[in-house]
Amino acid sequence: MKFVYFGAVKANDVLEAPALLRAAGLRVTSPRVAVLVALHEHPHSTADTVARYARDALGSVSTQAVYDVLAACTQAGLVRRIEPAGSPARFETRTADNHHHLVCRSCGAVADVDCALGEPPCLTPSPEHGFVLDEAEVVFWGYCPSCQTIRATPKETRS
Ligand SMILES: [Zn+2]
Ligand SMILES: [Zn+2]
Repeated sequence: MKFVYFGAVKANDVLEAPALLRAAGLRVTSPRVAVLVALHEHPHSTADTVARYARDALGSVSTQAVYDVLAACTQAGLVRRIEPAGSPARFETRTADNHHHLVCRSCGAVADVDCALGEPPCLTPSPEHGFVLDEAEVVFWGYCPSCQTIRATPKETRS
């Protein structure tokens, strides 16, 4: 499975990983910094993919350590965890902006879409059943551009 990112990457928070950790009350450790940088550069990565990038950056770090970092950073609000149906959990550093996701049914590519309305929750169900709502998480399912091309190609000409 490959992971494709179509969205705009915010340019400024890579080098601020230590500051982000401190602001969230987390100790600054090299695995935590490596995980945040990896996720910033490769949004919507799975834990295993993040572990691979973290190992590239640090030389060695256990997969369990990466899972622990992801859990701590998710809890602290530095990392957002999304779980499209049928996919392992994906992680990203783009948090708290109420953006949504497009997911390709075929290859699993994930793309960000900005919230159309802005303030969460951007959708209100009817009825609300007395709930006080603060978030609506939307996943749009379909086929990414390259999978559309494959699907449009007649079977006999596929390689
Ligand atoms: Zn696709
Ligand atoms: Zn996203």
